[in-house]
Amino acid sequence: MAGTIIDGKALGAKVREEVAARVAELGHVGLATVLVGDDPASHIYIDLKQKAAQAAGMEARDVKLPADTSEDDLLATIAELNADDSVDGLLVKLPLPAGLDENRVIEAIAPEKDVDGIHPFNAGCLYLGRPTLVPGTPLGIMRMLDEYEIPLRGAHAVVVGRSAIVGKPMAHLLLQRHATVTICHSRTVDLQRHTLDADVLVAAVGREHLIAPDMVKPGATVIDVGMNRGEGKKVLGDVDPGAIDRAAYMTPVPGGVGPMTIAMVMQNTVTAAGARRATSVAPAGN
Ligand code: NAP
Repeated sequence: MAGTIIDGKALGAKVREEVAARVAELGHVGLATVLVGDDPASHIYIDLKQKAAQAAGMEARDVKLPADTSEDDLLATIAELNADDSVDGLLVKLPLPAGLDENRVIEAIAPEKDVDGIHPFNAGCLYLGRPTLVPGTPLGIMRMLDEYEIPLRGAHAVVVGRSAIVGKPMAHLLLQRHATVTICHSRTVDLQRHTLDADVLVAAVGREHLIAPDMVKPGATVIDVGMNRGEGKKVLGDVDPGAIDRAAYMTPVPGGVGPMTIAMVMQNTVTAAGARRATSVAPAGN
């Protein structure tokens, strides 16, 4: 019997409603996005975030800089937004054009406004088991797992991929919930041996249908983060959709992790806004 599809679109809409209610409570919440250059995919990504912020009732500031912006000018823009009290969340689209030092730019973002959760302070807090602002994709996955009441304590979770924005924070969030976590990557020997033992399998690789149905443990929960451009405009996941015949739960592509990511960046923005208004209280909700 085929497993249950985890509906990220519906859950993402629910999170966005919760965010809108919180924005109304807080009165004013501001999100600033910074995009350097003219990469079309990055423009679409930023437009989606801008629209989501506006729909939630936030003040959305859209800073677009030319591709030849110098590092000093970009850092000055970030410093201005850091100092601007009407900005609660600040998101700089990565990757940056060649020639700009990404680490230096990330480190310039005020940690308390870092709604992508990529500043070393926030990444370090997660590593220490004291999450503050956490990247939207793994945060959204945790929300999906909780919503579908997937048991994590003592479960074997296998995360394929170790990027700073998905794989690593995902592994730490699962560890914090007492899963036994295995992290796989491009040098892992015999990937199938690991994935076949996963009660919860998260694929964040960027390789179309890398995870074949026979790599999935019967009854597992499968989270497909991959967004790979297939033939034409079709977006394909890292997991072969046929895996639904073995999985108990599985996210679709599209309509799974993607909509949750945007919703959780919005949630991070209200979390940041709430924390900035009550600085004696640690950021909550993550
Ligand atoms: P990334 O930075 O390119 O990292 C990919 C990871 O996969 C690396 O750790 C790499 O290992 C590992 N890997 C590559 N080939 C492998 C193989 N054959 N077997 C096992 N591991 C392998 O990518 P990312 O930013 O984490 O994104 C991953 C995918 O998720 C992409 O398709 C991206 O578009 C998608 N994504 C989707 C969302 C969303 O909202 N839906 C958000 C973010 C990302 P090494 O470290 O050894 O190189």
